[in-house]
Amino acid sequence: MDRRLAISLPALFGSLAAAGSASAQGSATTDGTPAQFMPKRPADAAAQVNDIEKFPKCPYCGMSRRQFHHARMLVQYSDHLADGTCSLHCGAISLSLNIDREPVAIWVGDNAAADEVKPLVDVGKASFLVGSKLAGVMTGNSKVAYGDPAAANAARAANGGEVVKFEQALLAAYTDMAQDVSRIRKNREERRRRAMEQKS
Ligand SMILES: [Zn+2]
Repeated sequence: MDRRLAISLPALFGSLAAAGSASAQGSATTDGTPAQFMPKRPADAAAQVNDIEKFPKCPYCGMSRRQFHHARMLVQYSDHLADGTCSLHCGAISLSLNIDREPVAIWVGDNAAADEVKPLVDVGKASFLVGSKLAGVMTGNSKVAYGDPAAANAARAANGGEVVKFEQALLAAYTDMAQDVSRIRKNREERRRRAMEQKS
């Protein structure tokens, strides 16, 4: 994995290294990551291969990772449990809930690729365009990842925003969390209300 990520993630989340193994079996006998938030799929050292088939839905919001392939993330923890999410917003939730697992690799959809379904790129190698006119996923302040810095800069020239590294994009995801959650909650409530109306 990328060296910068190895150094900077523990700096963000505190020293996780010692905590990783004790709770790796999902033991309910210790305090720590609540069982309902532990990644549910079996350990998979190559979770990033065919990740959409393995992790079709975001566990935190229920959205389709195929539909939001361009924004999806995959967090690989040190015990080989992995969490596939729809977006950086939900990836940030995974990281904050799984406090007893060390993230060893984090992947994100590469918008520099022309593929119909974007391939994954290691976040340490990605450039994030934050705050551009491009639509965000689970956020009003979009954060779009590019595996090629030139593509990120071209997108910035066309759409505004700022090109940053993963650590800053993640920090922005946490900073935006309060407003985004409030807005998403309203939207989902409205959607449920409309669905109920259509049924009746
Ligand atoms: Zn999600």
